[in-house]
Amino acid sequence: MASERKRSSSRSLREREEKYERGTRSYTMSHIRGKDTSIEVLVRSYLFRHGLRFRKNDKRYPGHPDVVLPKYRTIVFVNGCFWHAHEHCPKYSMPKSNIEFWTAKLLRNKTRDAAQHAELEAAGWRVIVVWECELVKANREARLEQLVQQITGTCDK
Ligand SMILES: [Zn+2]
Repeated sequence: MASERKRSSSRSLREREEKYERGTRSYTMSHIRGKDTSIEVLVRSYLFRHGLRFRKNDKRYPGHPDVVLPKYRTIVFVNGCFWHAHEHCPKYSMPKSNIEFWTAKLLRNKTRDAAQHAELEAAGWRVIVVWECELVKANREARLEQLVQQITGTCDK
């Protein structure tokens, strides 16, 4: 795909970004932040099975949170480790090409996440982030149990 790489240098950053966001390269495929990715579905169905009711991908809130639980004034983001640049995470490693592009892009994502969380918290929401790496099979059940406790727990609602 050498020709494709060369061609991309003449494109605007935005065009390239869109190209990557659409996931035209296999290594980005699992990193796309779209709706109903498998980890989001996993978390939602667990919460639902445990009696929690919520809105999903609510566009009224910054970041279109994956799970909004008005009753508990809690918002849950289910974050892919790559796309959200999870620090010190084995699942987050820089792609081997277009390093500058990705560094800038992922830093923007991270900054945007932080701003959105701050905005939600300022509006009185509790924000919980569940990371992709916390949901590996060996740890999944424990993390989801903990999440339910975080949401329904006796801590300030
Ligand atoms: Zn991670």
